[in-house]
Amino acid sequence: MSRFWSPLVSRLSPYVPGEQPKMTNLTKLNTNENPYPPSLKVLKAIRAEVGDNLRLYPDPDSLVLKQAIAAYHGVQVDQVFVGNGSDEVLAFVFQALFKHDAPLLFPDVTYSFYPVYCGLYEIDYQTVPLADDFSIKINDYLRPNGGIIFPNPNAPTGRLLALAEIERLLQANLDSVVVVDEAYIDFGGETAISLVNSYPNLLVTHSLSKSRALAGLRVGFAVGHPDLIEALTRVKDSFNSYPLDRLAQAGAVAAFADESYFQKTRHAVMDSREALVQSMRALGFEVIPSAANFIFARHPAHDAAALAAGLREFGVIVRHFNKPRIEQYLRITIGTPQQNNTLLEALNKVLPA
Ligand SMILES: *Cc1c(COP(=O)(O)O)cnc(C)c1O
Repeated sequence: MSRFWSPLVSRLSPYVPGEQPKMTNLTKLNTNENPYPPSLKVLKAIRAEVGDNLRLYPDPDSLVLKQAIAAYHGVQVDQVFVGNGSDEVLAFVFQALFKHDAPLLFPDVTYSFYPVYCGLYEIDYQTVPLADDFSIKINDYLRPNGGIIFPNPNAPTGRLLALAEIERLLQANLDSVVVVDEAYIDFGGETAISLVNSYPNLLVTHSLSKSRALAGLRVGFAVGHPDLIEALTRVKDSFNSYPLDRLAQAGAVAAFADESYFQKTRHAVMDSREALVQSMRALGFEVIPSAANFIFARHPAHDAAALAAGLREFGVIVRHFNKPRIEQYLRITIGTPQQNNTLLEALNKVLPA
């Protein structure tokens, strides 16, 4: 703490990102990155952008990228907002749409960045407990609120909420913004973007970090009614005119142009997930059904922190959250079939006979 800080800064509890170990040769299954490389078309587009161009500022509106996203998802350009990773998009969402008299609602077990943004923007919030099976129960959200946000599928549980349930929430909650954080939707869910034209209070956020293997490029976007998008743009233009650099814009446009690679890799991840779930269950793990590129699992006879430490000895890094209700769970990113085998081999050594 320093006497020079703004008072708010000492009250913040910043988000703690998953570890990015310096050691190579690790089986890194802790931050839900895609195990496959980005599309070659993306790399080519980025390389083509490297040159004298970099002397010039990028397009502050990322128009070509917004056009690509709008065409891909069948919406208008003024229904799309893009940002430096969906984390930045979410930061704008919290500031632009969630600061009201009534509290923001989100699940008790969810993306741990949400309470961090509430701290930064001094937003009042209430957490809504997930059911015992970690599912989101829409009826629990039908009360006065200044906004609602949850990931679908939820993180870190991986559980999917049916689109019909989201529509039921929207029908019952007309007076505040509902944000569905679809960072993992491409791994087995149905996007709520199909509902944005019917519900002007729905905003859907996406990330290119997971299903498009571009965590290092930092691109995310939101789709919703033009009024919601305008609120985000007003905040963005009061903060940073150029959140997406030239390489990010060019690479992201190319990502939406390589549909076959996208389909191939996301299906490979989903197939590996189903195989891994089977093998983990055979080892005695209880695995929550997942529609994401990770699984959330506990072993009834083994402490999760001890398992995570044991796996680390064999070079396998998974994520353990020391938090209420989930301290006995491990969140394990789906790797390539080979990485998943390395995990299973390590588990066979760590779980005593
Ligand atoms: C990974 C993740 C994000 C952020 O993704 P970026 O685009 O990399 O910032 C947002 N929400 C959830 C639930 C995530 O897991």
